[in-house]
Amino acid sequence: MDLGIAGRWALVCAASKGLGKGCAVALAREGVNLVVNARGDEALEATAAELRALHPAIEVRSVVGDIGRDEVRRAALDACPQVDILVNNAGGPPPGDFREWSREDWLRAVEANMLTPIELIRATVDGMAARGFGRVVSITSAAVKAPIDILGLSNGARSGLTGFVAGLARQPHLAGRNVTINNLLPGAFDTERLRQTLNAAARAAAQSPEAIGEQRRRGIPAGRFGSADEFGAFCAFLCSVHAGYMTGQNLLLDGGHYPGTF
Ligand code: NAP
Repeated sequence: MDLGIAGRWALVCAASKGLGKGCAVALAREGVNLVVNARGDEALEATAAELRALHPAIEVRSVVGDIGRDEVRRAALDACPQVDILVNNAGGPPPGDFREWSREDWLRAVEANMLTPIELIRATVDGMAARGFGRVVSITSAAVKAPIDILGLSNGARSGLTGFVAGLARQPHLAGRNVTINNLLPGAFDTERLRQTLNAAARAAAQSPEAIGEQRRRGIPAGRFGSADEFGAFCAFLCSVHAGYMTGQNLLLDGGHYPGTF
């Protein structure tokens, strides 16, 4: 299927590894020009080189830095001649017990996982609407639909983003101008972050990471973790010309782990 987005420009945040990289790879394959961002220079440059090799006709620009910082967001936006597609992403907040979280811990989580995507949406959607095409995809978490007790910072901050976006996506000046705003909710995907989580759980339970991984996999009806490539392919479809009638949705990709009908 031709996704109809060749020649568009996308800003993909937190894209040197994992799910963000999966989205950048899938968009590159479709001929989308890219601005990619991450904090670590080396991995980001390696990813940018991989993306250029995937589709030599596209332009790939990299902007190093924490996307939660104003000046980094400005540099990323400036590097993109126009943002047709925005993929919001950042690292997730740490797990823990809510009694131990300070006000500063909460503010950090809200900054990274709620206010940063909102700032980027604010900076880009009016231009998208004026041009009559725009796609915003925010990577959130399955924890928005089924909260995970130790991830309270993530449950809270991402739910705030989800509530805001639900209202924004339905505004006629955006929806009526072919600007869609949706969220992708990953379950368990085989990325560095998941491996770190499994290692921490293994240490806590005095078991091997392999044993903990096997237990997690057994709890997923698909019997496996998702891959960044399949996550990216789904994201690229959401960004395509074919997905213009879907907006304000929260799409769970979790191998059937969530047990509800809706
Ligand atoms: P990952 O494999 O650790 O990759 C994270 C990527 O984001 C890296 O490229 C990292 O590079 C970059 N990054 C992190 N914080 C950043 C920041 N503040 N500014 C710019 N770049 C940043 O993680 P992932 O598994 O792809 O997870 C992506 C998001 O999905 C996270 O928010 C995570 O909580 C959420 N999620 C993941 C899963 C899963 O199973 N994988 C499940 C639910 C939710 P640098 O470190 O160099 O910046």
